[in-house]
Amino acid sequence: MSSQVVTRFAPSPTGYLHIGGARTALFNWLYARGRGGKFLLRIEDTDRERSTPEATAAILQGLEWLGLDWDGEVVSQFDRKDRHAEVAQEMLARGTAYRCFSTAEEIAAWKEAEKARGVSYPVFLSPWRDADPATHPDAPYVIRMKAPRDGLTVIRDEVQGEVTIRNETLDDMIVLRSDGTPTYMLAVVVDDHDMGVTHVIRGDDHLNNAARQQMVYDAMGWDIPVWAHIPLIHGPDGKKLSKRHGATGLEEYQAMGYPAAGMRNYLTRLGWAHGDLEIFTSEEAMAIFDLKGIGRAPARLDFKKLENTCGHHIAMAGDAALLAEVVGYLAAKDEPALSDAQRSLLARAMPFVKDRAKTFPELLEKARFALISRPVAPDEKAAAALDSVSRSILRSLTPHLQNASWTKDALEPILNQIAAENGIGFGKLAAPLRAALAGRSVTPSVFDMMLVIGRDETIARLSDAAG
Ligand code: GLU
Repeated sequence: MSSQVVTRFAPSPTGYLHIGGARTALFNWLYARGRGGKFLLRIEDTDRERSTPEATAAILQGLEWLGLDWDGEVVSQFDRKDRHAEVAQEMLARGTAYRCFSTAEEIAAWKEAEKARGVSYPVFLSPWRDADPATHPDAPYVIRMKAPRDGLTVIRDEVQGEVTIRNETLDDMIVLRSDGTPTYMLAVVVDDHDMGVTHVIRGDDHLNNAARQQMVYDAMGWDIPVWAHIPLIHGPDGKKLSKRHGATGLEEYQAMGYPAAGMRNYLTRLGWAHGDLEIFTSEEAMAIFDLKGIGRAPARLDFKKLENTCGHHIAMAGDAALLAEVVGYLAAKDEPALSDAQRSLLARAMPFVKDRAKTFPELLEKARFALISRPVAPDEKAAAALDSVSRSILRSLTPHLQNASWTKDALEPILNQIAAENGIGFGKLAAPLRAALAGRSVTPSVFDMMLVIGRDETIARLSDAAG
């Protein structure tokens, strides 16, 4: 048996990609990638009523945006239904499953009778479990697995520890319905086995399923994967995460302009820790991510921390990569694309705007001076800085800029001199300059803006504002 780690993400395509699902995918991806293993993707589309191609597309788009690449083809669970049925037949042949002819009415009546006897949670015991096949009627049947009646099923979970389930609480679950379709519980196990999955890392809402699924592994004589059931994400108030806490869909975070690297970092830390390490790249995370670091208590979403983490990643990113990501962000939002000129100006502005921007909209707002074209329309606060005194100062400044060499070292003394001549501090001069150059009162440094847009554009904007 190969010792290569194989993990998988197995979403049901019934809606959008929830950030809890995205985090599950991320944990599986990190675990596999950090160990030279494989990360597989399986779409659990057996529920034909609720599964939609749009939901599948949204999941793939979300994973791609988050930068989680999977190995091989995307597996459709529905496409594998014949294989699932084949395994149900194999269980029959092995004697670990049986045909059950009990009708829904008979089962309901059986349960009523049990309740009447005082059993609060009756577990259906099929009369067909040990019936001689010679007595089988020519009638519809389901295939049920012959679950152990007594004893314990122990799930050795890397996160939850040992979880023990009394077998008498589990019924002989159906693996193949009377119409020949497999049940979800069978499909998951067959797929995980056939795909060679060695580690099942998923939400702890599936912990109870693990007990039943483990019985299928046992019934087929298959190796049981390593289980790791991770606690779900809660809202900041400690309650189960819901829309009322804020965004729950990964695509909403993309639309808010959080960088993918920041989201990966934040979601990795959401329920997993490595000492007090907070900020790391995905390569660093791959090297240290482990199942031991996953907490047993539900992690709480913390929007401040998300912003802080994303701010670090924007500041850390290379300028070219950041530009590409901003371009992708605008495209995803259906915003007008940047012209070539805007792109090259944004590239030049990047070193001056990426610090302290937590999202792409914040970065774009700081880069506004590089993206706008004349005439610059100042907002109300900026306009207030352009009174007649300031405008005449701007007018007196422009001739000095004509022949200055275009460096901060050359420009600084010129601006200081103009401020001194007018009996004002540099700060007082900066306000009308910001207004003239960017139309805003809060901007990157005046020198950085002048250097990015260049001499001609600077003089033109100052002249526009001077009137
Ligand atoms: N399809 C299941 C879900 O979306 C996951 C099943 C699994 O990971 O085993 O919740």
